[in-house]
Amino acid sequence: MHAPTGARMAEPTLLELTRARKYYSSPGGAIHAVDGVSVSVAERELVAILGPSGSGKTTLLLLAAGLLAPEEGSVRFQGSDLATLSKREMLAHRRTKLGFVFQGFNLVAGLTAAENVAMGLLLRGVDHPTARRRALEALDGVGLSGRAGHIPSRLSGGEQQRTAIARALVGEPKLILADEPTGNLDSETGDDVLELLTVLPRSRGAATILVTHDTRIAQTADRVLEMRDGRLTEPAREEDRELESERGQAREPGPTPQASGR
Ligand code: ADP
Ligand code: MG
Repeated sequence: MHAPTGARMAEPTLLELTRARKYYSSPGGAIHAVDGVSVSVAERELVAILGPSGSGKTTLLLLAAGLLAPEEGSVRFQGSDLATLSKREMLAHRRTKLGFVFQGFNLVAGLTAAENVAMGLLLRGVDHPTARRRALEALDGVGLSGRAGHIPSRLSGGEQQRTAIARALVGEPKLILADEPTGNLDSETGDDVLELLTVLPRSRGAATILVTHDTRIAQTADRVLEMRDGRLTEPAREEDRELESERGQAREPGPTPQASGR
């Protein structure tokens, strides 16, 4: 398997999309939000996805999560086609294997940070004392042990997002899906959040797909992919291009990474 779709060879493949397509119907005709994407993500891999607004990044994450089904192609997780799972199996899959971090945090307003983090465990049948203990540990892991009893409105944006990261990690998922997690944060706070997401999931054995506008992610991600009009490409790296011209194999350069806004 080779770029742009290949997972790192050293680790087993965790997630594999094969020619996945997702259309939305609109008055102006079908929107090809994800237009034939093949990509695999290895265990513990950190894959960053850049790309302009409307290019299909969120739709791709929803396909990866099994929250949307592809019209064509397949989404496999640990070798199983998600389309073959029953509703109950799909729910269990999402609760045990996946963790989500969204731009808008999506915390429950009336619950404390600890309760927000514990909720997913309780839904899985973990007993209350254990869920609470693990929630407090997870909050400690993101530097929020002093805020466990606060409701979201009493937390800063960065603290809310760190709570959301603790919530995503507490169930020991295999895959973290983060959709523009720094989009609502100032740049300094966003840097902290991005750093947590590039370090914590991997240290807990999880792979991460991170959608972000921050091109600096290229320094820490295992791979940076770019979404354009529903298609995924690997931006050509500077070193690769230099190498190619040195070899005198001046092929057409690939798409360049852009600090594309929204
Ligand atoms: P991104 O996350 O990169 O901004 P999205 O995946 O949200 O892109 O959207 C990709 C395209 O699909 C856009 O043109 C968007 O308007 C369209 N789209 C997204 N969700 C829906 C929906 N539920 N119904 C119709 N069109 C949608
Ligand atoms: Mg989006």
